[in-house]
Formats: sequence, structure tokens, C-alpha cells
Amino acid sequence: MNAGPPSVVVTIDGPAGSGKSSAADALAQRLHWQVLDTGAMYRAAGLLAIERAIDPADGASVAAALRACRIDFDWSVSPPMVRLDGRPVGEAIRSPAATAAASVVAAHPEVRACLVESQRRIAADHPRLISEGRDQGSVVFPDALVRFYLDAPVGERTRRRVRQWAAEGRTADPREVEEAIRARDLRDSERAVGPLRKPEGGVSIDTGTLDLGEVVDRLERTVRAALAEHRIVAEA
Ligand code: C5P
Repeated sequence: MNAGPPSVVVTIDGPAGSGKSSAADALAQRLHWQVLDTGAMYRAAGLLAIERAIDPADGASVAAALRACRIDFDWSVSPPMVRLDGRPVGEAIRSPAATAAASVVAAHPEVRACLVESQRRIAADHPRLISEGRDQGSVVFPDALVRFYLDAPVGERTRRRVRQWAAEGRTADPREVEEAIRARDLRDSERAVGPLRKPEGGVSIDTGTLDLGEVVDRLERTVRAALAEHRIVAEA
């Protein structure tokens, strides 16, 4: 555990398809910081439930399985790859089944408590971290240096997801993709604990009309200004 000065954290939250993962990875490269994909942790928890034949709606059982296993990252690759008990599961967590299970297990307070604790532990070990997800600025790191909230209209988020899948050689019916995104938006924003919402005092960016380079330019400018204001050096 890092016993030095507290880590500097920047958070990026937003709904599915808002472009936060690509933006977080690109910003991390520009700043030479590390990036924590907290969605991958919830996806790994969803995958764990599927593999163990646990009903994702059964919070107590999912949390018990989670406590008995280890979700961590291989930090030697970029972006870091999530592992379940040491086994890389970066591909398996992207399946439609694991994606749907992720947002169901994410609604349980005991599951969130377990993963929030891991996220804070990871931050303590990484002195410069960009953490992306749904509740990173609102719940997990409310004192983060900058708390971004990225959003875009659901039609645009659907088009992005379909394009992304096509690039990976997967076909997708746009109507089904939009339906799945809307269902996830609803589950993510209506749960009682850690719901998707703009953090208080956060910086909102509508990515609907911007390309990735423009989004990352805005993120970088804002972070560098905040670093300068607080007299923090970009590199630890
Ligand atoms: O960001 P990604 O689409 O990979 O997240 C998968 C799911 O994990 C989300 O739909 C959400 O339910 C959950 N999640 C969460 N809190 C986070 C990150 C992800 O509840 N911080």
C-alpha cells in the first residue's frame, strides 16, 4: 500500500456509449497516467455469477462469491486487462450476457460495497489515476481533482456501439442495441446505491457532436488547468 502523498484521481462518469472508455484511455496516454475501468469490474462480477450459475438478482450470493475470489488488473498491458482469480477475462466480459448481468449485479449494495473498496485500494496504489464508470465522481472519489460527466443522445450512443461491434466483426441489430442501452440506462440511473448521475461540481461534456480528439483536448485542458491551480505536477 502506498504510504506517500495521496493519489491524484480524475474521474470520468457517463452512460453506455458516451465515449468515456476511449476518452479515458486517450487521456491516460497523453498524461502518462493509469486508467481504471470500473465497468470491467462489474462486468467481471456479472461473468462470475454466470459461470457459477448464481442468479444475478441474488445480491447476497453474488457478493459472497465475489468476496471469495479476486478481481484485479494486469497493469503491464495497456489498457490494463481485468482478471478473475488471475485469469484474464477481458473478452468474455463483453458478451451481451455478461453485459446484461453486470448492470443487474451492480444494483446490489453489498456488491457495490465490495467493488468500491477495491477501487479505493487500487487508487491508493496508483499515484496518478483516471477512474471511469458511473459513480466514480459522485461516490467513490468525491474529492477527485476533476470529475467529468460525459453524455450523448441515445441515438448517437447506439450508432457508436453498432460501429464498434462492426469493427470487431460482430453484427448487431441497431434496434436491439438501442433497447439494451435504454434498459441499462434505466437500471443504472434508478438504483438506490451509486446511481448514474452527474457529480456535484462536475464538468459536463456532450460528446454527441464532438470527435474523440476534441473530447480528449477538452479533458486534457481542464485537467492541466486544475493541476496548475493546485500546484500538482502531472507525473508522480
Ligand atoms: O462501463 P461499462 O459499460 O463497461 O459498465 C458495465 C456495467 O457496470 C454498467 O451498465 C453498470 O451497470 C455497471 N457499472 C456500475 N458502476 C460503475 C461502472 C459500471 O454500476 N462505476
